[in-house]
Amino acid sequence: MVGMPGGASTADNLAAVTIDDAMARNGVVGSPPPGVVIRVAPAWLRRLWVGPVQAMTLPGVIYASPDAFRALEQGTARALLIHELEHVHQWRDHGRLGFTIRYLGDYVGARLAGFSHATAYRAISFEREARAAARDAM
Ligand SMILES: [Zn+2]
Repeated sequence: MVGMPGGASTADNLAAVTIDDAMARNGVVGSPPPGVVIRVAPAWLRRLWVGPVQAMTLPGVIYASPDAFRALEQGTARALLIHELEHVHQWRDHGRLGFTIRYLGDYVGARLAGFSHATAYRAISFEREARAAARDAM
């Protein structure tokens, strides 16, 4: 289902696809986590993304760049969807506080150790797990 709920400013910000539908379109099997929706990330959020970020998973919502959103809708983003689904499970397993502390702690620790943004980002344990999940599923 592609929904266009009313009330906000632009079509991009309103577009949404349910996780069930995205999984079916991208050939991802398994039980869809309940209540998760995929949306185009608002411009203000995308401005915070450094480098080639395609999506960001927060509790209950996967925010995607417009290109990534189209790919998820069209069923050509299987690896990305599996990656973000791993983050959905991490949020659920560790809780908002636990996820945030570990995610930021890994990043800040690596930065303080002198690593670049890109290296510190790639070293975040949750990111390593999500990349492994996507790799294993392909
Ligand atoms: Zn990730």
